[in-house]
Amino acid sequence: MLKVTTNKTAQKVLFSIDYLGNSQELYFKGSRLNTASLGDAAFCAFLPIAMKKGLGLSIDRPVSKQLAMNSQTIQGIYSTWFNDMAAVDIKLKQHSAAKRGSKVASFFSCGIDSLDTLLSHFEEIDYLVYVEGYDVWPHEKSYLKFMRQKIREAAKLYKKDVIFITTNLHLELDTHIRWGDQYHGAALATAAHLLPVDIGKVYIPSTFTYSSLLPWGSHPILDPLWSSGSLQIVHDGAAKSRAEKILKVYSDSMGIAPNIVRVCLGDRTTGRHNCSECEKCARTMLVIDLLNFKNKAKTFNFKKHKNFQALIDEIGDLPMELLRTGETIQFFRNGQATYDSDKLAVLESKFQDMTKTGFSSTYYDTFEKFIPTDLIYRTKLSDCIKDVSVRHKDNAIDKTKKMKGIIDSSKSVAIKLYSSQNIVRLKHVKKLFKKHQD
Ligand SMILES: [Zn+2]
Repeated sequence: MLKVTTNKTAQKVLFSIDYLGNSQELYFKGSRLNTASLGDAAFCAFLPIAMKKGLGLSIDRPVSKQLAMNSQTIQGIYSTWFNDMAAVDIKLKQHSAAKRGSKVASFFSCGIDSLDTLLSHFEEIDYLVYVEGYDVWPHEKSYLKFMRQKIREAAKLYKKDVIFITTNLHLELDTHIRWGDQYHGAALATAAHLLPVDIGKVYIPSTFTYSSLLPWGSHPILDPLWSSGSLQIVHDGAAKSRAEKILKVYSDSMGIAPNIVRVCLGDRTTGRHNCSECEKCARTMLVIDLLNFKNKAKTFNFKKHKNFQALIDEIGDLPMELLRTGETIQFFRNGQATYDSDKLAVLESKFQDMTKTGFSSTYYDTFEKFIPTDLIYRTKLSDCIKDVSVRHKDNAIDKTKKMKGIIDSSKSVAIKLYSSQNIVRLKHVKKLFKKHQD
């Protein structure tokens, strides 16, 4: 049994979890946290963890009837998606959800998805919410200070209220569950239930479109199921491609959005908005370039790439990048914006290469099951691991530690290569994998 005990002080809520003789303490800090929904927050935070561990779940606070009712569907989705998440017994006290007001909040990180949601529901949204500890670790104080400042500036310009919540949830549970494809939507829902009581609706900006849905932690069929009788959780933006969102952001009639766009963790030493080199930057910059918006895109450094070809060579080679690139081409081909046709031809040629070499059927054969961020190689890769992490551009040191940890903790031949925020570049791994086999 995974047993959750809750506690609260003036500006902090605590969740203590006990399972198999282990215990951990998770906190959420912030002003005006709604402690009447502690049971709902605990349910969202720990149901996926209990499923992952194959343990029953008990919570010391009542959970709203609607959420409890959704439990079976949520478990059905997870267990269909993932082999390592089985349905579990849950023991919940139920109650009618505590009343909430009618204000609307949206999660906001200065990224393309969250800016698109803000601009698309501008009149309706009252609050921008940033959770410290989800995409940036809670101990990275200087970067969080930079984020707070950027988000405050954005909120001020847009005349919106801003809410900051700080938590160690992601940090503490990162080794238990994969953040990207299994958990981040539930984690956002946890924070949503703790938002001030005047808020009755919360937007979660989407990552993927309806046409390219994959099992993913925040998902249009999953996110709304975390709603209670008084808090509506809405997955927003899946009807738009990345290119359509970028067009919206860079056409902001208030002229604010282009100056605050942040899609990656940037250069942490200088506090720049975007590193302009990673896959996230590349996929954003190539659309900006196609749209001829480079002069507006001050938060990116286009000089880092000698030409458009060099820029698109930074696109990752995961299947999701193939989907996104296809959608980008489709968007321009549909005539939804004016664009540089020579550059689009270069992108189309890249797309052709990706379909040939990026992910052929051999890729699917290589893996037990296709899950984008959970790449399981059933071989002894320990000799290659250092290479992979060194080759990975972002947080190379962290990555090495994480991978060493995985190897040390298990003599098993199954090695997981994953990252919560940055995905290991597959082509390097594939090359090493092949070398090892030879
Ligand atoms: Zn970047």
